[in-house]
Amino acid sequence: MSEKNQNKKNAVFSMLKTALLCQCPKCKHSTMFKKDFLVFDLEDQCTNCGLDLSRSDAADGPAVFLIFVLGFLLVPVALTVEMKIGWPIWLHLAVWGGIGLAMTLWSLKPIKALAIALQYKFRESDWDENPPPRA
Ligand SMILES: [Zn+2]
Repeated sequence: MSEKNQNKKNAVFSMLKTALLCQCPKCKHSTMFKKDFLVFDLEDQCTNCGLDLSRSDAADGPAVFLIFVLGFLLVPVALTVEMKIGWPIWLHLAVWGGIGLAMTLWSLKPIKALAIALQYKFRESDWDENPPPRA
């Protein structure tokens, strides 16, 4: 593998690690999210480097991504269980609803952090101190 490809691979792994740990995309030290349990809001700025996190624009992207991925993973498994075992409806709702809720709560912050890290890397103009006026 060439050195250029190795550097790209390292950059991707670094970005994924930053997202998984919900760290600031600029300084990679502090966490970006407010500390409260089940709160997915960002801090106004990074406590370490002062990056203005209010400029991030993840919007509904992480939630939509999760809807597609979890739907793709859970629905075929639920259908297979129904065809092979034939659980009652209440058990399907309890099991798949619980698994879906747990996976959503576990993965929403890292996916949101990944969206912000991608925005930070590929849309640098969003993070300018003096952004040009929008038309
Ligand atoms: Zn920072």
